[in-house]
Amino acid sequence: MDAVNVGKVRKRVLVAGGAGFIGSHLCDALLADGHEVVCVDSFVTGVRANIAPLGNHPAFRLVRQDICEPLAIDESLDEIYNLACAASPPRYQADPIHTMMTSVVGAGNLLALAVRHGARFLQASTSEIYGDPEVHPQPEDYRGNVNATGPRACYDEGKRAAEALCFDYLRLGRADVRVARIFNTYGPRMRADDGRIISNFINQALRGEPLTVYGTGKQTRSFCHVSDMVAGLMALMCVEPNPKAPVNLGNPGEFTVGELAEMICKRVPGAGAVVYRPLPEDDPRRRRPDISRARNLLGWEPRIRLSQGLEETIAWFRLKSEGRRKRRRDTDSTYRQTA
Ligand code: NAD
Ligand code: UDP
Repeated sequence: MDAVNVGKVRKRVLVAGGAGFIGSHLCDALLADGHEVVCVDSFVTGVRANIAPLGNHPAFRLVRQDICEPLAIDESLDEIYNLACAASPPRYQADPIHTMMTSVVGAGNLLALAVRHGARFLQASTSEIYGDPEVHPQPEDYRGNVNATGPRACYDEGKRAAEALCFDYLRLGRADVRVARIFNTYGPRMRADDGRIISNFINQALRGEPLTVYGTGKQTRSFCHVSDMVAGLMALMCVEPNPKAPVNLGNPGEFTVGELAEMICKRVPGAGAVVYRPLPEDDPRRRRPDISRARNLLGWEPRIRLSQGLEETIAWFRLKSEGRRKRRRDTDSTYRQTA
């Protein structure tokens, strides 16, 4: 490891899933802190545009690879973040076997890489490991209520197995492993076609379409801005000593789906109507993190209120859809001129 100017240590950090929503923000933050980043991504849900600005960065390297295959990374690594896994229910259910393999075999391959390099390892787990929780809010010692055979199981049980694998590596002293249980996260760079609630609602509102509320809209979620999430992940990677236990990361503000629809409609002129659609199978009825552990161990808590984060995310999607419309107009007019 080389020392860098501001007294920080320059590390080489592998980010699996670095072209995805949270992963690309993490790559930005690591580079801004003066580290080198090796981004590993298969682009199954990741987007080139998320990392395009990093293409010429001298400290950034992209490895296009599926983590289900063993990784041959020759340069030394100090840290590995495993964020590689589709996170939206329609996306992870589109190829459930690959989702399970990514969670378990993929995590196993990255853990083996961590052992080979003596690298510290952080696993992106999820609030989904609590399933449809009977304890509210959810502390880390709640063991969850997951349907092991339902359509969400490929993700929930895959992530649970990955946690088990992580804690076995830790107990056996093979790697310094940390596990973050991430609750619903949102912000710029979510895919418009991702299928999750915030990207769906904002894009429906911007297109002037009714917002699709699944079920009664009384189910709740807690939404954390991506910049807060990245700060929490980096704090967990750095904290000493190793917590040796999973840590919830999320924003404890709790909102019903109906309330979220109202907040977005209020902020997008022309939006207003909602339509009700069937509730997906095994959809958790409520979710809210107990973040006492993160507060105590990491001194971390989210700073961005949902209202503020929504304004920013709406503005980002609006800009993106205007850019798309302009490109389409330019292409049409070029076509007309040449036709
Ligand atoms: P995302 O789909 O935007 O990003 C996942 C990235 O991983 C994508 O770039 C995708 O191409 C890549 N990937 C997936 N499978 C891969 C494989 N087998 N090999 C290589 N690359 C692969 O999702 P996200 O929202 O950025 O989520 C990142 C991580 O955080 C995931 O592990 C997810 O389970 C976890 N998480 C996210 C949320 C959330 O609300 N966003 C909540 C809980 C947990
Ligand atoms: N949801 C909804 N309309 C949508 C997308 C999602 O009402 O267009 C609901 C979904 O049923 C769930 C909540 O919003 O109750 C959060 O869904 P999301 O897929 O964002 O995340 P997760 O269910 O994984 O928490």
